[in-house]
Amino acid sequence: MKKQGRLIVHTGSMFSGKTTSLWRELYRMRIANYKIAAFKPAVDNRDDEKKIVSHDNLELDAMKVTDLNEILAYADKHELDAIGIDEVQFFPNDPTEVIDIFNELMKRNITIVCSGLDMDFKTRPFEIIKEIMPIADELTKHHAICASCGEDAWASYRKSSDESRIQIGSKDKYEPLCRECYNEKMNEREKTKNQITMEELGD
Ligand SMILES: [Zn+2]
Repeated sequence: MKKQGRLIVHTGSMFSGKTTSLWRELYRMRIANYKIAAFKPAVDNRDDEKKIVSHDNLELDAMKVTDLNEILAYADKHELDAIGIDEVQFFPNDPTEVIDIFNELMKRNITIVCSGLDMDFKTRPFEIIKEIMPIADELTKHHAICASCGEDAWASYRKSSDESRIQIGSKDKYEPLCRECYNEKMNEREKTKNQITMEELGD
């Protein structure tokens, strides 16, 4: 019986176990002798060149690609059953193009397991994730633990005042916070920023 292509999405904040879940899914498929390949965006330079490394150091060989079209080309050359894509929100492809590529892959009976951040550090949704969530067969939103109060975390708080949207980092640059603790810290930050401006004005 031929396996049907499906879309499985793991999303959530940083340190929520998204990559670990992606890895676990692929590992299960590998045991069942699925032919699998894993990919991650070239922009993710945190770890080893070839591996998907989750924060708890589970490793899987992953190819770095700059564009999701490369995955389609790769799948056409190799008879794959499933592919894993880590940090899918970082690909430069237009969200509608992502849907087209995913549909093409699923037409070839390839199952796609994706992991990606739902929101950036300002809690603005990442476009690709926003687009693929409704068409997923399976969707899991993972939660880290709030670094301040121990509730389920909601957002990835950036510790520095760097404003660029993509800033690759780990615990050195981010901490998971629940909605309340996140809003509190952002308010504090806003207050400090205003104070500095007042001082600069010589007030
Ligand atoms: Zn909290």
